Amino acid sequence: SHALIWFRRDLRLDDNPALEAALRAGHAPIPVYIHAPDEEAPWAPGAATNAWLHRSLQALDADLRARGSRLIVRRGDSLSELEKLIAETRAEALHWNRLYEPASIARDTRIKQGLKSRGLTVESHNAALLVEPWTVQTGSGDPYRVFTPFWKNARTRLVAAAPPTAPARLPEPPVLLAGLGIEDLKLEPAPPEPRWDAGFWQHWQPGEAGAREMLDAFLDGAAHGYKEQRNYPDRIATSKLSPHLHFGEISPRQVVARVLGQVWPAAVQGDIDHFLSELGWREFSHHLLFHLPHTAQENLNPKFSEFRWAKPDPAHLAAWQRGRTGVPIVDAGMRELWHTGWMHNRVRMVVASFLTKNLRYHWKHGADWFWDTLVDADLANNTQGWQWTAGTGADAAPYFRIFSPIAQAQKFDPAGKYIRRWLPELATLPESALAAPWEQPDLVRRLAPGYPSRPIVDLKASREAALAAYSGPKSKP
Ligand code: FAD
Repeated sequence: SHALIWFRRDLRLDDNPALEAALRAGHAPIPVYIHAPDEEAPWAPGAATNAWLHRSLQALDADLRARGSRLIVRRGDSLSELEKLIAETRAEALHWNRLYEPASIARDTRIKQGLKSRGLTVESHNAALLVEPWTVQTGSGDPYRVFTPFWKNARTRLVAAAPPTAPARLPEPPVLLAGLGIEDLKLEPAPPEPRWDAGFWQHWQPGEAGAREMLDAFLDGAAHGYKEQRNYPDRIATSKLSPHLHFGEISPRQVVARVLGQVWPAAVQGDIDHFLSELGWREFSHHLLFHLPHTAQENLNPKFSEFRWAKPDPAHLAAWQRGRTGVPIVDAGMRELWHTGWMHNRVRMVVASFLTKNLRYHWKHGADWFWDTLVDADLANNTQGWQWTAGTGADAAPYFRIFSPIAQAQKFDPAGKYIRRWLPELATLPESALAAPWEQPDLVRRLAPGYPSRPIVDLKASREAALAAYSGPKSKP
């Protein structure tokens, strides 16, 4: 007898509890992917997510074929497609791994109820988190809103044991079972659209094998010194696992098992603890989004509901999006994002602070752009990252803490390598002019004529305006 394995964002075969459960019950698993982006509205996958997904599905299908199976791809309403597949295969069970976004939870609950009432075995599993949101709570039984106590509790749950791997052979799905080709889903940009993702794939290899390679490279390399080096955007100093984790090409359990299963020199222990705590932030973000699902749209801190955000000037918003603000560290970050689908964490904070404080635009404008352009766009992490930087979130940076893009560039890109890499038009400017080129207008005119001669907002005046808005009589948060 058959069981359907409904793949969503668990695009791997090792440590896949849905697959394991089917095999354990003696069912022949039929791997299924159903393309139903509208079911995730208002957070239907963005363009960069789709481009990644295309390749990740190809990798999953190839991995399944190498084991004698294949991925059955369908498109349409998930429930009706599952019903059709159950009828076509006479499957007795359906397994999937859980998602934590509000729209997905609502859909999955509806599907589970609908199919269970017809006598089918329907089981969901945890493949994506170290601690699911309802399994940890404060002493008074509430969800956590502060990271440190959350992680202190959650950390005790980490296990070093390696999670199970998939068998080398899987049964073949019924030969006549029809499916679409992955290209039929049209996830990649197609003419007349320009191939904006052309530069992505020299940085990334979507799929389970690519994820494993990324982790190996990190553990051998950047993990050593991570705590300090992770702040410098021009260095290979972080794991770059975020898109792989988002799509479930690797599980946090697998990452933790590898980290804890290794003996580290004493000098590296602090780096390891810090890395684990970053995985902890991912857990915390999911905890927050699960317990406070409205925060994907609204300020977590209700004191900001009256805050006077500025009405976006479309030209300024476009300048921010395309890396033409005239502030080099901001522009370098936005161009790194455009060219690679990823941006260094420190620079994410800098560009987000610029948008929400210097421009004083609602963080949703930034979250929306990230949503469309990041290959790791993740509703929990993105919402938390934006609300944290804007000062409207849980355990957030206070609103009055405004990043100075000049000081950040001087401190974390002291030789200007990151700025020069992503802003080739500034390549010949001397180091001393890279953080704030408008202070040396003659040099810029001569050496970088294509770059904005001054920032779209005066940094000092906009900083003061933001502070005044923050402490203003009507809107005092
Ligand atoms: P590493 O430093 O190697 O960290 C390992 C893993 O821990 C990451 O892959 C990620 O899964 C997790 N992690 C690290 N930092 C954070 C964090 N601050 N919050 C939550 N999880 C974290 N991350 C996303 O995955 N998706 C997003 O859409 C996203 N949007 C962000 C928006 C803003 C404004 C900010 C400030 C941060 C955002 N982040 C987001 C968090 C962080 O920037 C990225 O996770 C990180 O840069 C990914 O690089 P890495 O894999 O090399 O990280």
